[in-house]
Amino acid sequence: MKVCKFGGSSMASSDTIKRVADIIRADSERKYVVVSAPGKRHAKDIKITDSLLTAYAESKKGGKLSSLLAPIKERFVEIAAGLGVTDKVDLEAIFKEIEEGIVASPIADYAAAQGERLSAMLLAAYLDYDFVDAKEVIRFSDNGVFNAEYTNDVARRILLKKEYVVMPGFYGSTSVGQIRTFSRGGSDVTGAIVARAVKADLYENWTDVNGFLTADPRIVDHPRKIPELSYRELRELSYMGANVLHPESIFPVRKANIPINIKNTFDPEDPGTMILPGVLQHDRLITGIAGKKGFVSILIEKSMMNNEIGFTRRLLSVLENLNISFEHLPSGIDTMTLILADSEIGGKMQELIGGIREAVSPDRLEVQSDLALIATVGHGMAYKPGTASRLFTALSRVGVNIKMIDQGSSELNIIVAVKGDDYERAINAIYEEFIN
Ligand code: ASP
Repeated sequence: MKVCKFGGSSMASSDTIKRVADIIRADSERKYVVVSAPGKRHAKDIKITDSLLTAYAESKKGGKLSSLLAPIKERFVEIAAGLGVTDKVDLEAIFKEIEEGIVASPIADYAAAQGERLSAMLLAAYLDYDFVDAKEVIRFSDNGVFNAEYTNDVARRILLKKEYVVMPGFYGSTSVGQIRTFSRGGSDVTGAIVARAVKADLYENWTDVNGFLTADPRIVDHPRKIPELSYRELRELSYMGANVLHPESIFPVRKANIPINIKNTFDPEDPGTMILPGVLQHDRLITGIAGKKGFVSILIEKSMMNNEIGFTRRLLSVLENLNISFEHLPSGIDTMTLILADSEIGGKMQELIGGIREAVSPDRLEVQSDLALIATVGHGMAYKPGTASRLFTALSRVGVNIKMIDQGSSELNIIVAVKGDDYERAINAIYEEFIN
């Protein structure tokens, strides 16, 4: 049996939802369906989740909620009419309830979740499937942390009693019924949780692209598609910015060894990308390249650092106290370099530098901003001499200087840091060397 998740562009209008329904009906194994809120119908359109979050924020500043919700309601009324389910889903009553819910809600999560809820209700009505509310199935702790094992038991119990189900993605509730959401794009996570709970044979993730690409198409011209990749390769690539799938959606299915198939709602015949457990044996040296801009390096130099027991612990406790996580920590004999994301540091740079000086009294401390990280990922490079040399030669050929190199002993990836300005050139050079 299959669990299918359909993303925002698949759920954007009644026409696209009819395509979704055709896909579901084409295979009787597609029994559990998880959906996103309606997304963009065209480049300038606004995702329903964004509209809901704006309505919430404006209403808390004193805006009139019924007027703020009016365009959202209108979009759902249009979808319901297009699907011919107006008499099955009472949108008037539901929007009244949403208004009250938002007024009563001290956090934005309740508002953010309503797009998924309505999208699932309308699709369930159109397909004649059971609607199961995610708030009954997905459990968060009172401080908003997802409770995986409790959810797995409850989801299994509730879902397996029903044969054909549509469920909203993205949200769940706490033990006292407060709505909580995953981070943005989190319906992918819900789909994976459902797949694990019902022990699906396959988790189909339907989106608007034909699968994972070997590089970012905004940087490389028409990069090739990745037909197959492993969970571990996926984790590395999606962590580093290949954002077809929410990075956390891997964990539930990986636990249960369920393959994920990324498919395109607008090109359903295309096989898409298969994500499989284990280490894949294939001829490719490199599976994909991904990267991100917006990193800072902090070089810390101190004579005899290597003899100073507890040096790294003291350094890292500064990060811990400031609630900052680090990306990499390459070290020499008397040097250590912290690579950190700008988004982690936020406005805490001064405190961070002061804290480091106090904790480890460095001889020298040097900050360099505007760095990019690039991960070249693939099981294929393990035990193959020459991969690193080809990578570095490719970069030197186009005049890119490498600021940092990190390769774990698993040999699954080689990560390099380069100047932000060199980022695009570096990615193209690696692509040309290994993939084109
Ligand atoms: N609707 C939510 C978002 O826009 C969740 C999702 O689509 O997965 O982030």
